[in-house]
Amino acid sequence: MSSVVVIGGGLAGLSAGCALADRGHQVTILESRNRLGGRASSFEDRETGEAIDNCQHVAMGCCTNYLHFCQTLGVDHLLERQRELHFVDVKGAISRFRPSTWLPSPLHLARPLAALKYLSFDDKSQIASALSQLVTLSSSTRQHRVSQKFRDEFQVTDEDLQSTREARQDQLTFREFLESCRQSEHVIRTFWHVVLVSALSESLENISFQQGAQVFVDGFLRNTSGWQVHVPIAPLEEFYGEPLAQWLSTRGGTIQTESGVTNLVMNESGLVESAQLRDGSTLTADHFILAVPWHRTLDLLPAELQLKYQTLAEIPAAPISSVHLWLDREITSLPHAVFVDHLSQWMFNRSKLDERYRDNPRFYYQVVISASQNLKAMSQEEIVQQVMSDLQLAFPPATEAKLLNSRVVTEHKAVFSPQPGVRECRPSQSTPVDNLHLAGDWTDTGWPATMEGAVRSGYLAAESVLEQLGTPDTVLQPDLPTGRLARWLYKLD
Ligand SMILES: Cc1cc2nc3c(=O)[nH]c(=O)nc-3n(C[C@H](O)[C@H](O)[C@H](O)COP(=O)(O)OP(=O)(O)OC[C@H]3O[C@@H](n4cnc5c(N)ncnc54)[C@H](O)[C@@H]3O)c2cc1C
Repeated sequence: MSSVVVIGGGLAGLSAGCALADRGHQVTILESRNRLGGRASSFEDRETGEAIDNCQHVAMGCCTNYLHFCQTLGVDHLLERQRELHFVDVKGAISRFRPSTWLPSPLHLARPLAALKYLSFDDKSQIASALSQLVTLSSSTRQHRVSQKFRDEFQVTDEDLQSTREARQDQLTFREFLESCRQSEHVIRTFWHVVLVSALSESLENISFQQGAQVFVDGFLRNTSGWQVHVPIAPLEEFYGEPLAQWLSTRGGTIQTESGVTNLVMNESGLVESAQLRDGSTLTADHFILAVPWHRTLDLLPAELQLKYQTLAEIPAAPISSVHLWLDREITSLPHAVFVDHLSQWMFNRSKLDERYRDNPRFYYQVVISASQNLKAMSQEEIVQQVMSDLQLAFPPATEAKLLNSRVVTEHKAVFSPQPGVRECRPSQSTPVDNLHLAGDWTDTGWPATMEGAVRSGYLAAESVLEQLGTPDTVLQPDLPTGRLARWLYKLD
């Protein structure tokens, strides 16, 4: 049994710690704040005394590692799988998006796409054609089907595609890709923007083709359940707070909150010897996992490694805002809605989703706005007013509803921005120092900044520790299997 200190109690640190504790190692998790969960956590609302999340978090069916982590902790029953999505168009009309449960992928998407009322037949043909180009370009074995226009425009040759496929894809923006596929502004705004901005929290001009394509391939085309949205029906503290602490303690693990680390101390053999805490104490261990956000990592790394990880300073951040509204009545029975071409992007009906609100006279709604840079120019009142008018357009009872309370929360460094070039700045979970490992949604997982990306990084960091201990083990969970038809059509692995 070895001792492992994990610095950072977000999902990356927690999943790494749990995986190692489950394999018999002595784990201590150090978290600077007074609660666990990091960017996916709850806080107490001063007005109501209720635990509310900093922002509504959702997972998708393709998030196999995150779902595995929730199952391991025994909290997966707190996720409600949505069988359909509801899209609100600019006129307030609602289209239901309900993929088939029996048709193989990608045919399961045909009917729900056809049912989106705000898109014409021509719009849908454009989307189908771009999806096919997208999957072809991102698949390793079908480069020959990339359109000549695309090859000419970006000087992409067969050799390029073969040898530097991922690197070149990372240099393209998703918007450039869409323009090369002749997507109209209407289709870009009402389809591609809607899916990608909420998934990646960036504008299409700033999303690398590779990262955008992954959302569509893994989320929609590979498997019929990849798209399914899993929404927490309880505050996030019920996922990563007490239940996790108990789970870990039964496996000999310890969690110390309010235990910020200031630096790591190296010994003469070039290994990390201890973590120095803000209160002056130190903690020694055989292995250390640094699982803090990328913009905090450089300060904590030993001086010897600073130069190697300088590029972390170049990773840009993107903001996400959540607008919390408490109304005096129910405005819709839908659990959620996706707003197309509005300021509001997703509405979550917390009163419907969370049993704690069932008999509550205050009805709680949360509206999420990703890539919320534009909100800087608006006052809180203006934001709330605009969001209320979006809700009124879609749900008539909202016109009569009285706003009892509201709160706008913006996380300015919510996620790293998946811009071209960022992929190069994402380091491996293993470092040149044998007993130091990295975890965090920003490390090299191939995934965007999500709970899935964080858990993947934690599992990979645990694998790195096990490898160094001479007891290699697979912790990372397999992706959803690629459907047979999708494999045949797109030559996806
Ligand atoms: C507003 C918002 C909405 C989001 N929505 C979604 C969503 O719907 N779906 C989704 O999948 N993802 C979403 N995300 C992204 C997701 O929350 C993150 O990708 C994930 O939680 C990151 O986990 P992490 O462990 O890598 O980092 P973090 O959660 O940032 O954890 C790092 C931890 O390290 C601690 N720490 C920092 N410095 C020190 C120190 N010196 N000593 C000790 N501890 C330290 C921090 O307090 C923190 O707890 C959202 C994020 C935000 C902010």
